[in-house]
Amino acid sequence: MINNSMSDLNKKVVKDIDDMHDKQIEDMLTKGGPGDKSKPGEVNTEEWWKWNNLSEQTKLKAGKTILGQPPEDKSILQQAKDKDIWFCTIPFTQVYNEINGKYCACCFGKESKKHTIENTTLKEWMVDSEYMNSIRKEMLDPHTDFKAVNEICRRCRTDEEKYGRSRRTNCLKIHTNDKEFWDNIQRNVEMYKASGQYAFDERILEIQLKVFGSECNLDCFMCMHANSTTRQKVADAGVWNEQVYGKPSKERDEYIRLVMRDKTKGVNAQVLELAPYIRSIKIIGGEPLVMKKHYELLEKIIESGHAKHIYLKYQTNLTQTKKGRHNIFTYIPHFKNVSMVASVDGIGKTIEYMRRRTVWQDVVDNIEKCREHPNVVVDFNGLVTNLSVLRFYEIIDWVKENPVIDQLNWAMIDKPTHFRPNNLPEELKKELIPKYEKWPDIVAALERPADPDFDIQNLFDYMLKADKFYEGTKWDHKLFDVFPELEKYYEPWKHRDHNLQANLFPNWDKKVREARDAQEFGL
Ligand code: SF4
Ligand code: SF4
Repeated sequence: MINNSMSDLNKKVVKDIDDMHDKQIEDMLTKGGPGDKSKPGEVNTEEWWKWNNLSEQTKLKAGKTILGQPPEDKSILQQAKDKDIWFCTIPFTQVYNEINGKYCACCFGKESKKHTIENTTLKEWMVDSEYMNSIRKEMLDPHTDFKAVNEICRRCRTDEEKYGRSRRTNCLKIHTNDKEFWDNIQRNVEMYKASGQYAFDERILEIQLKVFGSECNLDCFMCMHANSTTRQKVADAGVWNEQVYGKPSKERDEYIRLVMRDKTKGVNAQVLELAPYIRSIKIIGGEPLVMKKHYELLEKIIESGHAKHIYLKYQTNLTQTKKGRHNIFTYIPHFKNVSMVASVDGIGKTIEYMRRRTVWQDVVDNIEKCREHPNVVVDFNGLVTNLSVLRFYEIIDWVKENPVIDQLNWAMIDKPTHFRPNNLPEELKKELIPKYEKWPDIVAALERPADPDFDIQNLFDYMLKADKFYEGTKWDHKLFDVFPELEKYYEPWKHRDHNLQANLFPNWDKKVREARDAQEFGL
């Protein structure tokens, strides 16, 4: 009798702890992460502009909407919530350029054909460029034909079709539930709508510049080589698969040279000119914390007196926190708030294998160091790939047990297509689906058929070359030790001539992929 009641009590305690953990995860996700009610092709807008998060003036605007009112007469927020317009806050708030210097709407937007950080100032890009103005106009027009949006924002359009969520939906969820930020964005968007002219107003800008090169200390298997100097060195040593990463070519080499060219000339001065309108600065790499040049920008902003109003954000692997004389913890106290978005898509050996040269314990120690600073938050934002999805649920469990992060988020890998989560043997995908029942976007990804040109032998070929390269080093890990469930699919005798295969399956060709997506989603 005593035993029974003790066991009931234990069960209750365990259940209460589980419920508490689930609530914790839910709280992390509602700030912009996945896990809401959207479905493939059906974005759910319930989490945007939650009533209790609105200011009185925005409530007034929202409350003026009458049932059956023509879309043109509704407020912007109501038009977006009712899906009369396909609205995104980013073209009004973000200045972004790619590692080759070309401007884009954001990291998911298509590169501008003519505007680069070397021929167009940050201000000219935001105010005068036809690129930015074309998408802003279409995003406010209920009768648009989406000509520019379908081209520039193709990734968000297709992600919403495939998974029901996108970078756009994540940003809307975050931006529209921040009272002050949304009020300032709303003011800016209304001004734009009335005048057709973009103007800087209030602190709403997020500056995301990739001008500091692509120095990086890691060799993550899914990372495009131009993004990491370490990846480039390892590829030069022969760790390569043409079906996964395309044929080495002069154009590719030229692209990497362009990436490595110093593009910082004059940029610090342009950022300082916009400083009164800057809400946040995000430094992206390579690995930003090991890029010396970016510390010069931090020093200038601190000198200008604006740092105390600015959020500083890093997309970082969080394996190192200093470079030369620079230590990030000496800069942190000057800024309003610092957000370390750590690229974590596995725990322990899993991340040490996928993001080679990572020492998981170093990441954990650096999270602890960040937490010693009251103005720092750490978030996780990983990539769901066909390797990480085999263990991604472990991160969710780790976060439940170690409540040291503020937000948990993830994105689906798009390229290289070989590493998409749908590209796994059907049998493994079926086994994984029950583990992600609370995360519909991951289930949706696993339910998709493998890409027609996917051949798992290419994945093995690439990963096993890397295993060989690291043999005997301190980063020696083996694919089938970390993911033993894959071994039975390895058929080395099936290896074909790669050049022949490249002609048969031109998966690496960007134009072929775009045409396929366009056909699939009618864009
Ligand atoms: S819709 Fe997507 S691609 Fe376009 S600006 Fe917004 S987040 Fe970027
Ligand atoms: S840390 Fe980032 S830049 Fe470096 S290899 Fe990994 S994904 Fe690429």
